[in-house]
Formats: sequence, structure tokens, C-alpha cells
Amino acid sequence: MTSQTIDTTRPAVHLRIGAERITSGSGGAHQHINPVDGRVDATIPLAGRAEVDLAARTAHEAFADWRRTRPSERRRLLLQLADLIEANADEFARLGAIDNGTPIPVAAGLVASSIEWTRYYAGWADKLTSEVTGSFGPDGEFSYSLGQPYGVIGVIITWNGPLISLAMKIPAALAAGNTVVVKPSELTPFTAELFADLVEQAGIPAGVVNILPGAPEAGAALVEHPLVKKVTFTGGPDTARKILHSCADLMKPSVLELGGKSANIVFADADLDQACSHGTMMSIGALSGQGCALPTRMLVQDSIYEEMIGRIKAFAEFITVGDPLAEGTVSGPVVNEAALHRILGMIERARADGARLVTGGHRIEGALADGFFLEPTVFADVDPQSELAQKEVFGPVLAITPFATEQEAIEIANNSEYGLSGYIQTNDLRRAHRVAEELITGEVLINGAMNLGVNRAFGGIGLSGLGKEGGRQGIEEFLRLKNIAIA
Ligand code: NAD
Repeated sequence: MTSQTIDTTRPAVHLRIGAERITSGSGGAHQHINPVDGRVDATIPLAGRAEVDLAARTAHEAFADWRRTRPSERRRLLLQLADLIEANADEFARLGAIDNGTPIPVAAGLVASSIEWTRYYAGWADKLTSEVTGSFGPDGEFSYSLGQPYGVIGVIITWNGPLISLAMKIPAALAAGNTVVVKPSELTPFTAELFADLVEQAGIPAGVVNILPGAPEAGAALVEHPLVKKVTFTGGPDTARKILHSCADLMKPSVLELGGKSANIVFADADLDQACSHGTMMSIGALSGQGCALPTRMLVQDSIYEEMIGRIKAFAEFITVGDPLAEGTVSGPVVNEAALHRILGMIERARADGARLVTGGHRIEGALADGFFLEPTVFADVDPQSELAQKEVFGPVLAITPFATEQEAIEIANNSEYGLSGYIQTNDLRRAHRVAEELITGEVLINGAMNLGVNRAFGGIGLSGLGKEGGRQGIEEFLRLKNIAIA
């Protein structure tokens, strides 16, 4: 199958407020550019302050009934939504590719995860129990705690996982009894449109989920809106700071899922085949490096250092970069022209800083020259203090640094403002647990364990953010505790 035989139509995008499909917004319009050829492929309406206000009021009105909807009914509706996502899995994978250039098989994997996240939180809807905190003790008071929904949650997401980002936030918020106003990135509007259609088809009442593609101004208006009681955000640290400042003025809580520069420590005793394929595909292959929790810093023990570099070079040069809709494509373009030039700038500075360019480093020319394609790029001998080791690239660039001892590996890994994920490759069980305990990160993934497991809490520390998604903690973020005592 080639891109010629695949449906390349783009769905019309609307602002979705209550049951309304609005075709223009006070935020103007955005020209969506196909990252494969650099051409405008759709014009989408953008929400402004007026639509954010209408959506927040609509969600607030819907909250009155939704919070009282039986938990088993909320579960049924969310399971229905998960079934519909599953029935539309191929279309979501196609839209993911069209939204931001994610290759179909990778996008399909993220759709499968999104179905799991939706089912998992559907299951929580009727299993939230309260705790008895005192039962007629010496003071003669019986007390218990209640987890109650906040009301309207403001959901702001970025462009790199347009469906999974929705699935990591909305089902949990709804299962807990909240309603939502969602601002997807204007760069990836198509996935959100189909998601809104399926919310409607699932029978989730109008106004419970409102979706407004919008520019940063719409996101800021959502954060500031007095009817929005909590914000959940996925994006970069600079935006997160602005959100925190607004939230501080309003005493509004927020969950912030931000970036990372996750270290992947490869010990000499690791399974090198798996360390090489996992370490290369995850960092510069599948998502072209555009993932928050990817292992983009590889720390390799000195006795296997040159061997690993040789293996990774061969693997990186084997990655097929191309049209995300075409069969056989492993890695697609980066999201837009600005990202392409930002990444090329970081590559230039890494060379100037003395890192050894092992492979890649250039924009891809020829048939792909009009699109935003970069060669999968590997640098070795990267100074742990350099920009490439310290700053998130969000592009297909892997930084490799040698280490001698376990202690040195831990020190280099922890020498980061970020703390999202940590990766360890070793066959020594004791070492795996010892090092995992020392890494200053929100999660540690050993010997190829995958992230985004729905049953465990995901979220970083430091510059990687605040709060959790996933597991019980993920739904507790959408509940506030009240204690009730009776004499
Ligand atoms: P970004 O912060 O620029 O934008 C994210 C979202 O915030 C967009 O919808 C944008 O319109 C909106 N926004 C921008 N300014 C705003 C403001 N002042 N107020 C409210 N909303 C505003 O991020 P980006 O460049 O689009 O995305 C890349 C970043 O996202 C990377 O740092 C990446 O690591 C991070 N990310 C994190 C996770 C995670 O789960 N931890 C997942 C994916 C991406």
C-alpha cells in the first residue's frame, strides 16, 4: 500500500461546544501545513476568549447533572466510547499521520494504548470508595472522607500524541464526575474532531466534553476562566510556568506533564541487541524523537562503548524515513518548519561543542526536500554539561556519553533539570534495582519495559512537571477530598 492508495482527505474541523459544531471562532483561523510536503492542507477555525467563555459556562451547566449521574452509568458511557475508538482505530491512525506525520503503525500503537486508558478509567468510575477516618472514638465523633469532582477541568494538550493525550486526561476526569473544556494544539486538529464525534455517538451528554482547537491565547483564557476549577496540561516548561503564574493568582491547582531528557544507562552486561534496537528506535526512530519520555541520552559503559556506537550507527542508518502514510515508513517528518530549523541549530551547536557526529545531521533532500524530514542523527562523546546533554531536542537526535562505573552513570543521569523517565539495560538484577532506586525520575524502565502503562502513575519531577496521570493517582488528581464528621 502506498500513500496514493490511502485516503488523504482531511475532516472539516469545528469548535465543539455542547451539541453545537461551530465553523468559525473569534481566535481567527489556522492554516494547517502538511509536514510531508510543506503545503497548506486545511484551514481550521480557532477559538478565542468568547468561545472559551461559552464552553466553560456550558461545561459548568452540564456538571450539575454529570456529577449526579450514577457511577455505573458513567462507566457504561466511557466503555461505549472505548468501543467506538476501537471501531475507528484505523481512522484514528490515519488522522494521527495526517495531523503531525506519525507513521501509521506507530500511530496505531498509540490508538491501542488510548483504548486501554479509556477502558481503565471507565472501570474506576464505580470503584471510588471513601474512607472512614474515625468511628465514635473518645471524642464521640464519626467521620469519613469524600472524594468529590472539581467541576470544570481545563485540558490543554500538545501536538505529539493527539489521541493518547486526550485519552490520558478526559476519561479519568469524566469518571471522577468532572466535565471538561479541551484545547488541543492547533497543529493537530483532526484527531480531536473525530474524538468529539465519538463522544457524541457514545451518548455522553452534550456539554460534558467541549473541544476547542485554539492558539496559545485560547489556552491562556481557559486557565484564567473562573469556572475552570483545575487545569491539566501537557506541553513544554515555558508554557507551564505561565500557567502556574496564572493559577497562582487564582489559587487554582494544576497537573503539568512536561518534557524530559531521559538517560538510558547501558551496562556492559546488558543484552546488547535489545539495548541497541530499543535505544535507537525509541530515541530517534518511531516518533522522530518527538516524545517527552524518550531515552534521548544514552550512557554507555566504556568497555562496550565503541561497539555500541557501531551497532547504533548501523541501526540508525537502517531506519526508513518517509511519508507516514506509506508502507514501510518507520520514521516520519518533524512537526513543522520551525521545529526543523530549531533542531538543525542544536545539531550545529553540538558539533561546535565538540561532540562526534556518528551519523545523520542533515535535512533530507531529494523526493522529501519539501517536507520537514531530518536524518536520524547520533552524536557520541557528548559532554554531560553541553546543551545537547542538557536540553530537550524534541527531534531525532541521540546523545551518547561514556561512563566507567555504576556511580558515575548515576551521577551523569541525575545531572539534569528534568526528571521524567530513567532507563536501565543490565542483566544484573541487583544492579537494576539499586540503580533504579537512585535515579531522580518519575519512572524507571528496565530492559525494554515500555512507558504509558495505564495502571501506573506517570509524571515527572523538576522541569518535567507536577502531578500524575495513570493508575489510581491519575483519577485522584480529579477529586478533591472533603472530611465529614458527625457528633
Ligand atoms: P507548548 O507548551 O508550546 O504547547 C502546549 C499547549 O499549550 C498547546 O496547546 C499550546 O497552544 C498551549 N499554550 C501555549 N501557550 C499557552 C499559554 N500561555 N497558556 C495556556 N496554554 C498555552 O508545547 P509544545 O512545544 O507544543 O510541545 C512540546 C513539549 O511538550 C515538549 O517539551 C514535550 O516534552 C512536552 N510533552 C510532554 C508530555 C508528557 O506527558 N510529559 C507529552 C508530550 C509532550
